[in-house]
Amino acid sequence: MIRATFINVTRLFFLGTIVRSLSPSPAPVLLIYNMRLTPVAMSAFCTLALPRQFAAAFSRGNSIAAVRQFSSTPTGLFSVKEEVDPGVVEGTDLRVLKYPDPSLRAENAECTEEELKDGTIGKIAKEMFMVMYAAEGVGLAAPQVGINKKLMVYNESGDKKKWLDEIVMVNPKIVEFSEAKDVEIEGCLSFPNMNGKVERSKWIKVEAQNLKGKKIKKKFKGWESRIFQHEYDHLDGVVYTDRLDEDGRLEVQPVLDELVEDFGEGGEL
Ligand SMILES: [Zn+2]
Repeated sequence: MIRATFINVTRLFFLGTIVRSLSPSPAPVLLIYNMRLTPVAMSAFCTLALPRQFAAAFSRGNSIAAVRQFSSTPTGLFSVKEEVDPGVVEGTDLRVLKYPDPSLRAENAECTEEELKDGTIGKIAKEMFMVMYAAEGVGLAAPQVGINKKLMVYNESGDKKKWLDEIVMVNPKIVEFSEAKDVEIEGCLSFPNMNGKVERSKWIKVEAQNLKGKKIKKKFKGWESRIFQHEYDHLDGVVYTDRLDEDGRLEVQPVLDELVEDFGEGGEL
C-alpha cells in the first residue's frame, strides 16, 4: 500500500516560502523552517503529520490550495499520525499484511476471465477498497491482503466520498516507462514506521483490464503514475524498500529488523 504521504521534497522547500506569506500562525512556519534545516524533521513531517488531503493536493501540483488548507488547520501538524492499522474492518475479513509476510514476495497469478465473470474479482476489489480507506491509504495491491493475484485498486484522493475516482486495475502491465525520473518520499502500510526516497519514471503507459474484462490503455503521470508504479511493484513481488539507495536502506534497516523479529520464524524475505 502506498500511504498518502508522498511529497516532492523540492516543492516542500518552496512551500516554506509560500506558507510564510499565507499563514497567520507562526507554528507551521516554524516547523517548515525546521524542515528546511533538518532532513529528519522534514521526513517526520512528511510521514507523521501530513494531512492526507494536503499530501494529495500538493503532490498533484495544486500547491496553493494545499497550502491554504494546510495553514488553516495548523493543529493537524501536531497530531502525530503514523501508518493506520485498521485491525478488523467491518464487511471484510481482509487485513493488511506487514513485512516480512511471505505473501509480499509470492508469485501473483493472472485473474481469469471466469473470476471476472462470476464476480470473484469484483468482490475482492470492493473489500480491498474497504481496507484501503480504513487504513487511510490511496492504493492497495492484492498480495498485501494475502491474495496473490494481479489486481490493484487505488483512489488518488484517498477519500471514499470521491468514489468516482476509484480505479481497479486487473492484470495490469506497464508497457512503457519515461526516461525522465523523479524522486519522492514513499511509505507503505506493509512497512509501518518508516519511509524513504524512491526514484521512479515520471510517466508510464499501461495496459490492463477493468472489472468487466474490457482492455484499458492509459498514460499516467505525476501522482497517479507514482501510485501505479508502487502498486504494480507489489504484483511483481517487489517492495519499495528494494528501491531505496544505500543511505535510505541503512536508515530503515533497524525498523526492518524489528518487523522481522515481530513476525517470528518463517518470514524471511
Ligand atoms: Zn505498498
